[in-house]
Amino acid sequence: MNAPEHDVIVVGAGFAGMYSTIHAVRAGLDVLGLEAGPDVGGTWFWNRYPGARCDVESIDYSFSFDDDLQREWRWSERYATQPEILRYLDHVADRFAVRPHYRFGERVTAADWDEAAHRWQVRTESGMTTSARWLIMATGSLSQPQLPDIAGRDSFAGTVLQTSAWPREGVDLRGRRVAVIGTGSSGVQAIPLIADDAAELVVYQRSANYSVPAFNREIDDAEWQHQQDDLAERRRLSWGGAAGSPWTAHPVPYAEVDEVEREAVFEESWTRGGVLFAKAFQGLTADPVINDAARVFFERKLAAKVDDPDVRAALTPRDHPVGTKRICTDSGYYETYNRAHVSLVDLRQEPIEEIAPTGIRTSAGLREHDVIVYATGFDAMTGALTAVDIRGRDGRSLRADWAELPQTYLGVALPGYPNLLVLNGPGTPSVLSNMALTSEQQGDYALRMIAHCRTHGHTSIEAREDAAAAWTAHGLDLAGKTLFASAPSWYTGANIPGKARGFLPYIGGFRAYIDICEEVAAADYRGFVLSSR
Ligand code: NAP
Repeated sequence: MNAPEHDVIVVGAGFAGMYSTIHAVRAGLDVLGLEAGPDVGGTWFWNRYPGARCDVESIDYSFSFDDDLQREWRWSERYATQPEILRYLDHVADRFAVRPHYRFGERVTAADWDEAAHRWQVRTESGMTTSARWLIMATGSLSQPQLPDIAGRDSFAGTVLQTSAWPREGVDLRGRRVAVIGTGSSGVQAIPLIADDAAELVVYQRSANYSVPAFNREIDDAEWQHQQDDLAERRRLSWGGAAGSPWTAHPVPYAEVDEVEREAVFEESWTRGGVLFAKAFQGLTADPVINDAARVFFERKLAAKVDDPDVRAALTPRDHPVGTKRICTDSGYYETYNRAHVSLVDLRQEPIEEIAPTGIRTSAGLREHDVIVYATGFDAMTGALTAVDIRGRDGRSLRADWAELPQTYLGVALPGYPNLLVLNGPGTPSVLSNMALTSEQQGDYALRMIAHCRTHGHTSIEAREDAAAAWTAHGLDLAGKTLFASAPSWYTGANIPGKARGFLPYIGGFRAYIDICEEVAAADYRGFVLSSR
């Protein structure tokens, strides 16, 4: 089926796509949204595994662009569950009439730049073709699931589940012998709940992660009222902060406080919960001394939670400094290993040799399972973009270009790909920040670029090669001054065999990034080439 030509095509209906669509429509543009899933939600549509929640507080992880929306939606818990976030996005879709602009069940497979027309020609899996002057890719930073290439993987005769594609109708795991492969944020959230149901649970862990309790709670009326009274200030701090939330590190540097105060600061940031532990002291993820103090504090907490010393040793992270892989945010994760029917297999000691029809064989032998759950992560930041055959100027291929490290300008634009606007991609703060707010900033910036072109009669805007090279080098330089670059994380592509290695998000901070974007815009989009047809 062919659809008519549009001003803008927005790919994806998660936070960033919905925001862009709402605001493109408000700007008077003819917008077509394309979404592979059957409805809005993006990440929150697909990741329905038990225990799925956000690790950014609900009050922060929500749109800020509409005061009435902020006031009318009442979050029930400090960290919202996946169903509640999906209900929220459903509400946003209704309230701002998002769905009429989308075609759902349309997975974009190819996009070709038509230099003669200055338009993108877009194709979908179903055979639909359409075109637009501007192509906004709001395809998510963690949306291309990664299944490990393990011998015999498809031979398993039992039930196979993926945290990132959990069945909508749910799964009854009661009485079943379940295996979970993967102990990142998804596995760590799912494992305690799977353990509640399963007759037996075996967790296969390749690398131990740092996980900090969420200290989740229901938001009672008094807390809700307080949050509402404080909302304007909270948003001001979030927009001005390094990670899109109001939380900051202890104001006094680590070197200037004594042991007693250090302990108190670590304890306080621990009880803030989850990823906020990495914010205990300024420089925790850059200075090995501070980081090591955080590690020692963590290991004491771990010791108090896990009874068996061998299991505790296996659960102790060894391959990365604190916070350089995203800290997991859990509810009862470590304590789960004290339960009699739960066991941990340390794949560093006994690697998986194959998946057999009845279970998983490691170097120590076969364990039988009824269900295997893959919580094995994503081809992050680039995977959803290279999944589409994107051809830019002169037929150049994004897949081929990104076989090397992605070169982006401000993350939003790519040299050789005019009018392709990537949201929350490599070179943006995105995954290091609060994605609800980064999605607003990214969507706004892309739409302002479009408005600027239209106002000045330009039909194309493209990042210059040298501007992209400088931006990419700047990002790598900043990352190189931290401990992040050395960790084998998905931030660096290390979780995907054969993927180019290099720190992908922009680590200079959300506010600093916004200021640079604004400065570029104020300087007539310095570093871009604007042209007309
Ligand atoms: P992940 O952090 O990449 O974790 C994947 C896990 O699978 C790791 O433990 C990894 O081990 C393991 N794995 C991969 N391939 C394997 C193999 N061949 N054999 C054995 N183990 C293998 O993925 P994720 O847990 O889905 O989380 C990704 C990101 O999504 C998070 O960092 C977070 O940003 C976001 N997320 C957030 C939330 C939340 O808000 N609370 C929840 C879920 C996800 P290695 O470490 O050894 O590679």
